[in-house]
Amino acid sequence: MNREQALATEALPEERAYELSLRPRRLQEFIGQESICSNLDVFLRAARQRSEPLDHLLLYGPPGLGKTTLAHIVAQEMEAPIHVTSGPALQIPGDLVGILTNLDEGAVLFIDEIHRLPRAVEEMLYPAMEDRKVDLLIGKGPAARSVRLDVPPFTVIGATTRQGLLTGPLRDRFGIVLSFSFYSNQALFEIVSRSAGLLGFPIVNTGAEEISKRARGTPRIANRILRRVRDFAQVDGMEAIDQGVAQKALGALEIDQSGFDRVDRLLLETIAKKFSGGPVGVETLAASIGEDAGTIEDVYEPYLLQQGMIQRTPRGRVLTALAYRHLGLTAPRGQADGGLFDQ
Ligand code: ADP
Repeated sequence: MNREQALATEALPEERAYELSLRPRRLQEFIGQESICSNLDVFLRAARQRSEPLDHLLLYGPPGLGKTTLAHIVAQEMEAPIHVTSGPALQIPGDLVGILTNLDEGAVLFIDEIHRLPRAVEEMLYPAMEDRKVDLLIGKGPAARSVRLDVPPFTVIGATTRQGLLTGPLRDRFGIVLSFSFYSNQALFEIVSRSAGLLGFPIVNTGAEEISKRARGTPRIANRILRRVRDFAQVDGMEAIDQGVAQKALGALEIDQSGFDRVDRLLLETIAKKFSGGPVGVETLAASIGEDAGTIEDVYEPYLLQQGMIQRTPRGRVLTALAYRHLGLTAPRGQADGGLFDQ
């Protein structure tokens, strides 16, 4: 799968520096997610007034919505250093102990993909989050002994794409849980306009509107499309991005009017044609389109669900009447309401 084309929402390696330059640094600059921002603003002020680190914070939502960005903003607002790691990077408890015992007072420990922490590491994290202690086992066999080490006051910020993947005990140790939703077109419009300004490439409003309408409610995708549109505009010798060049680039990227890319459409068409509209289990679906089931659940499905293209039932995914219309297909009888009422 050509990921640049498919527009999967994970950051691509060559994209990281670009993303970094576009990342808002302060809470004030963070666009959209109003309820997250207003709540967080209160929690940050309260923590600062008490001269305490912020309570442990869990950020949850599909990729590309700003979890990493917000974690850096929290550190900035608390004037605290940030240590960045991820669930898969912490393979053994020793990896975590090394980080925890070297944290500066008040530091933020950002753990991306926290649902992928190995169990032994996760269990090491509990006492650190709760009592600021880690139990270190020294030596082997009968001579082994356990030593309790102090950890300075700190804040864990965990990010996860699906809250359901977290174990109960881990979830319970977060005092604040913030859940991201897809961005409105207006918020994306502001993000695209801001990013174009930072890139130093002028954009007219209709151009920014076209990109924001087709960005799957996701800032990362909006910025990614902007970068491609800028290429087209530049090669065409244009001085500003307008609606026409945005449409041309989006057409070349195979992103349709609703912002669905080739994989989205393949997914919908497969349910319609191979599985008579469903229900079909996600594993079966994944195997038939050659995608990873986790990627479908994390990346593609949330937006298709939000847009009312598919529905989740206990027996699997079903296509809605809206999706049939989008694909230009006729829904089979009894399927017009997503097949939900004749089960
Ligand atoms: P996540 O960690 O959820 O996958 P990121 O924080 O890496 O997402 O965000 C992806 C990119 O989208 C960032 O580089 C940033 O430029 C942009 N972005 C995310 N949220 C916002 C926002 N609220 N305002 C402006 N840009 C944003």
